[in-house]
Order: sequence, then C-alpha cells, then structure tokens
Amino acid sequence: MPHSVTPSIEQDSLKIAILGAAGGIGQSLSLLLKAQLQYQLKESNRSVTHIHLALYDVNQEAINGVTADLSHIDTPISVSSHSPAGGIENCLHNASIVVIPAGVPRKPGMTRDDLFNVNAGIISQLGDSIAECCDLSKVFVLVISNPVNSLVPVMVSNILKNHPQSRNSGIERRIMGVTKLDIVRASTFLREINIESGLTPRVNSMPDVPVIGGHSGETIIPLFSQSNFLSRLNEDQLKYLIHRVQYGGDEVVKAKNGKGSATLSMAHAGYKCVVQFVSLLLGNIDQIHGTYYVPLKDANNFPIAPGADQLLPLVDGAGYFAIPLTITTKGVSYVDYDTVNRMNDMERNEMLPVCVSQLKKNIDKGLEFVASRSVST
Ligand code: NAD
Repeated sequence: MPHSVTPSIEQDSLKIAILGAAGGIGQSLSLLLKAQLQYQLKESNRSVTHIHLALYDVNQEAINGVTADLSHIDTPISVSSHSPAGGIENCLHNASIVVIPAGVPRKPGMTRDDLFNVNAGIISQLGDSIAECCDLSKVFVLVISNPVNSLVPVMVSNILKNHPQSRNSGIERRIMGVTKLDIVRASTFLREINIESGLTPRVNSMPDVPVIGGHSGETIIPLFSQSNFLSRLNEDQLKYLIHRVQYGGDEVVKAKNGKGSATLSMAHAGYKCVVQFVSLLLGNIDQIHGTYYVPLKDANNFPIAPGADQLLPLVDGAGYFAIPLTITTKGVSYVDYDTVNRMNDMERNEMLPVCVSQLKKNIDKGLEFVASRSVST
C-alpha cells in the first residue's frame, strides 16, 4: 500500500506529526494541511523544500483509510499512516511540530473537565513518546485535547518530571494549549451581533478580539473592550456575547446530539495555528504573535520569558495562562502581560478573579495527576 510507506524524511523536509489524526478534528485538520501547506513552501527562502504529514491514531483501520484518501489529493505534501502496530516512533522521529487532538470528545451534559481521567492518561503516554522520539530542544507541541486547562500542565510536568533529557532543553517554552477556537468564536459572534443590530456597515471584515485565561467556561475571558471593531454594544448584548464565547462549545455539542463536539471549526482554528508554526520554521517569518495557553514558569521555576514576571502577580500566581505571546524558533520569547493591564474594570474585577480561581484548580488537577503517576519508562 503506497500510502502507508513512510518516505525517508530528509534534512530538507519539515515533518508535522498529528496524533489522533483519524478523529473528527484530526481528519479535517489533516485535510486542510494537505490541501493548503504547499503555499507556505513556495514562500520559503530556506533549504526546506518538502513538507510531510505523519498521521497517527490508535484506530489502525481508520488511519490507514484516512491516509490513503488524503494521499490522492494533488498537492506535493506527502502523508504517511502510523498506528501502534508499526509504532509511534516512526511517526514522531524528526518531527518539528506535533499536534495532538487525540482523546475522547464531550457528549451532551458533559463538561470538558469530565474528560480529564481518560485524556490525561492518553496525554501522558503521548508525552512519554514525544520525549523518547523527538528532539526536545527543537520540537513544538500543540495540545488540542480537552480539558486543555489541565492537560497542558500534565504534558509539561510529565515530560519534565519523568524524562531527564528534557532538563535544559527548553521544551516547556514550546508546549502550548490551543485556545484559538475561542478567539475565532469571539470574532464571529461579535461581527454577527453588530450586523444584526445594524451597528456596523463593515460586513466583509472580521474583528480581532483578544481572548485570554483558559479554555473552559468562565476561565475564558473575551476582551471585547480591546477589539478593533468599533462597537456600541449595550450591557445586555455584551453579557450575551461573553456567555456565548464561554459556552459556544456547548451549542455544537448539543446540536451534534451525542456525536461529539466541535471538529470543523476546531480544525479551522488549528490550521490557523499550525500554518503560523510552519511559516516560522520555514523562515517565512521571524516570530509568531499569537495567544496560547502556556506555563508561566520554566523547569527551574524562573519566569518562562520576559513579561511572565509581570503577568504572574496580575493572575495571582497562576502557573499557566492563555495570553498573547511572541514565539520564535526557540519557543515563547515574550509574554504580553500588558493585555491584562488594559482590561476594563468589569473584566479585571469580575471576570479575572473567577477565571484565576477556577484555573488554579484545573492546573492543580493536572499536576496532581502527574505527581501520582508512576513512571512508565
Ligand atoms: P474524536 O473522538 O473524533 O477523535 C479522537 C481520535 O483520537 C480518535 O480517532 C481516537 O481513535 C484517537 N485516539 C484515542 N486515543 C489515542 C491515543 N492514545 N493515541 C492516538 N490517538 C488516539 O474526537 P475529536 O472530536 O476529534 O476531539 C478530540 C479532542 O479535542 C477531544 O478531547 C475534544 O474535547 C478536544 N477539542 C478541543 C478543542 C479546543 O478548542 N482545544 C475544541 C474541540 C474539541
């Protein structure tokens, strides 16, 4: 089967591994990457001339089918299929970017937190494999699986605790939780309400809305006060919008009625993130400006990057936070703490304390899981 033969990944290749690629998000994201990444390659000034997608899933039949299907798409991006039968090593070896949508999604009535036990086990095993197979001084790891608020602490602390080679690798500057869907939703919903209420004539442009904090309910803080879309929303409209962004995922879970959570919009959001990392690693851009959920302290308990020392007291010492960042090939290089300083009174005095108190519990849950886990290697 030609699609399942792993092409040799040469020096001139950029390899992206997607773990959980046969799932709802994994399939759609892989499609977008297979269809669109060639345009990044054309811009590249560097020696990389090829992009490879290594698709892994525990469901062997499904991943073989997905890979065979994608391999017929007429772009020069190559694909390979991986499952536990052939080992995850071939998938991860030489990967520059690892994207993780592996795990179980929500059913109606479930919170993201309800997924914790199953998905924390999956994330720690995948973290072990990443530590064993990837170059921890270079690889970027993007965690999509929920609950992001707890699973990113699981991924970071598991690798640092159980894999000595991670020490001084800087890997904690390159593991990020993907919260982009909240930003995508805030932009979509703000434009929608402006048009419905006749407040804006700019129907073809999309607003930018910073969204910070975490990725679950009230830990999600959409900062409509910092949107570039001039808007005269009244208090009720603002409350409605904030709630809709915080609980937008529930609309999809309910509409799918037991068949999972957001997949297509998440794949779109994930694609927007991955394409930025591809641009960075190809040398098309020098830095990424984007919001991700990251640790604010490094393996030695120092602030992860300039700006994190200023952010930590503003978020009552929460160890992880989604915040606009500058990211270079070495990882997070600047934390834009000023986004918190620019909050209005309601955002700072009402939303931030609720977010931080819940976030700290979510973070502790992840850290306790790793502390209680016996080393599997
Ligand atoms: P899905 O069930 O359709 O797909 C998950 C895939 O992961 C399946 O193909 C499954 O076989 C695979 N899998 C399970 N265990 C694995 C393992 N150990 N290694 C590799 N693959 C494994 O689910 P989905 O709808 O694609 O959602 C995936 C995850 O993303 C869920 O946790 C969901 O809650 C989360 N999610 C996150 C966001 C976000 O904004 N970050 C948005 C939507 C969904």
